[in-house]
Amino acid sequence: MYPSSFQDDMTSATPSKLPFQAEVAQLLHLVTHSLYSNKEIFLRELISNASDACDKLRFEAINDSALYEDQPELSVHVSFDEKARTLTIRDNGIGMSRQEAIDHLGTIAKSGTKDFMSRLTGDQKADAQLIGQFGVGFYSGFIVADKIVVESRRAGLPADQGVRWTSTGAGDFEVEDIARAERGTSVILHLREDAGEYLNAWKLKSVIGKYSDHISLPILMEKEEWKEGENDQPGGMVKTGEWEAVNKASALWTRPKKDITPEQYIEFYKTISHDFEAPLAWSHNRVEGSTEYTQLLFIPAKAPMDLWNRERGSGVKLYVKRVFIMDDAEALLPSYLRFVKGVIDSADLPLNVSRELLQESRDVKAIREGSTKRVLSMLEDLARQEKEGESEEDKAKFGKFYAEFGAVLKEGLGEDFGNRERLAKLLRFASSTTDTVTVSLADYKARMKEGQEAIYYITADTLAAAKNSPQLEIFRKKGIEVLLMTDRVDEWALNYMQEFDGTPMQSVAKGSVDLGSLQDEAEKKAAEEAAESFKPLLEKLKEALKDKAEDVRVTTRLVDSPACLVVKDGGMSTQLARMLKQAGQPVPEVKPVLEVNAEHPLVKKLEGSAHFDDLANILFDQALLAEGGLPADPAAYVRRVNALLA
Ligand code: ADP
Repeated sequence: MYPSSFQDDMTSATPSKLPFQAEVAQLLHLVTHSLYSNKEIFLRELISNASDACDKLRFEAINDSALYEDQPELSVHVSFDEKARTLTIRDNGIGMSRQEAIDHLGTIAKSGTKDFMSRLTGDQKADAQLIGQFGVGFYSGFIVADKIVVESRRAGLPADQGVRWTSTGAGDFEVEDIARAERGTSVILHLREDAGEYLNAWKLKSVIGKYSDHISLPILMEKEEWKEGENDQPGGMVKTGEWEAVNKASALWTRPKKDITPEQYIEFYKTISHDFEAPLAWSHNRVEGSTEYTQLLFIPAKAPMDLWNRERGSGVKLYVKRVFIMDDAEALLPSYLRFVKGVIDSADLPLNVSRELLQESRDVKAIREGSTKRVLSMLEDLARQEKEGESEEDKAKFGKFYAEFGAVLKEGLGEDFGNRERLAKLLRFASSTTDTVTVSLADYKARMKEGQEAIYYITADTLAAAKNSPQLEIFRKKGIEVLLMTDRVDEWALNYMQEFDGTPMQSVAKGSVDLGSLQDEAEKKAAEEAAESFKPLLEKLKEALKDKAEDVRVTTRLVDSPACLVVKDGGMSTQLARMLKQAGQPVPEVKPVLEVNAEHPLVKKLEGSAHFDDLANILFDQALLAEGGLPADPAAYVRRVNALLA
């Protein structure tokens, strides 16, 4: 417990009351209402913070060893006081200044916080899951405590510049200046009525063993001894004043693989990621060669809230010879693998390495290449298990991964040329014959028709729009499978993948359809004749639509629809252009090509119609509507249709 002498020489300034940032208040409410079924994780979170604080001190002390003061041995003490009903986690790490306590314990700096809050439903189970993904950290203390007192002093500040932070987890907290001889932080939890079980050494040891065994610092608890009762008083455990380590205190990744159980890997993952769910896969290796390092990398099962923030950096922590250097070291993995979590411990980098230096280091380049390859082989393993896995759980893993991270992986096509082929093999799509996103390019190729020369695909905003697009009609009629792509990145990514395994990728909405040898002679001849006899009509259409369409031509790709829009080969699809426009980006104005179905009654009717201009415009606008676009002048469209209906 806290030395009582400490209270005496306190120079207590008047405490000031400050409100929590709105998001914190909301989070706290959730923590206390949704997480009680998994109470004990609070200890993992607080010990993890203590360990991070020690890592930070060690890192800052590389350049300023005075920060160690007279305490170079870093550790975490866990103690409890049954009478006062308090549990204290004390570290001698970096500590916090008054301002840092206000900033770090009163606000959430994480990106994605707003989005997270907006996804909460009020359903406790679902919300508990979401909080797990978000990570509650320090605030998890309020699962078991109705009041938390944090006393801290930042390393390097004088003893009279300590801070006490107090809150009951309602709307606000108090801070006051205190004197604090020792550097670092004590988190004092005033336990709730129903959390008395944590006032027990045995219970605490078992929770620490479960969650924090791999923490590289010693976690110390006071030894207890059995004492016989006297004068009719019952016997009991008494504290001896001697502290002993209750964890192994060796960083998990430095231990031999064979000594680590799957449960330990999973717990380690949860500690570094703040994820409540087990990872899908991990890989632990010592790499020796031109540069030496240990990698322990995890594939999470769930995407974090801020996955789409490309600036967030990877989830990989960099250590140099077991000294923590930095979080989220973006130089260690390419951005498209930013979902990976883990640790890389280099034997060669200098301890004072900076982010800038990392970008240029040859060792880092080798680590990045090696780690990228490692992640790709983990994913290939998961993909293999999809077919060959021993359990249903194993078989489902790749699908789970892909649903969460598939779209991010596609960024790699444009980002990592060297691994493009390996990446392409990992991609999965829905198709005109398979609704689920499970078709690999290899599967597709294996099913290609005799004489089919390209892998056909279409991009659209939604699966329904893709499936029902008129451009698919001829393919459906001929029984040719078309991949349906609905991720925002697809169009962009496909720019970097013109072919797969020697077969070109061909959009069915770009250029004219050339089904090559899939079309028989009679069909080709009929198409040519139609084009010839339609020439005068096409000229008239071109004239009527000269502001809207780049060209008008007859097509064989339509069966049931009268017309559709396509773009020229190599052009930007209308769908991508629309998306960019919505995002406020400059888009070159390209007019699409209108293709008409010579066999369609509506098209036949055009010839000699008194309403030629109206019909031509309706034809064009409907083709636009069919692919999810909007007529440039919707009111004019409605007027024209109404005129015809009347
Ligand atoms: P996270 O650890 O994910 O950043 P937390 O809510 O757990 O979120 O903690 C918020 C911040 O408070 C930490 O980033 C750190 O700056 C500070 N903090 C928490 N615990 C400690 C501690 N024991 N020592 C020093 N700083 C701490």
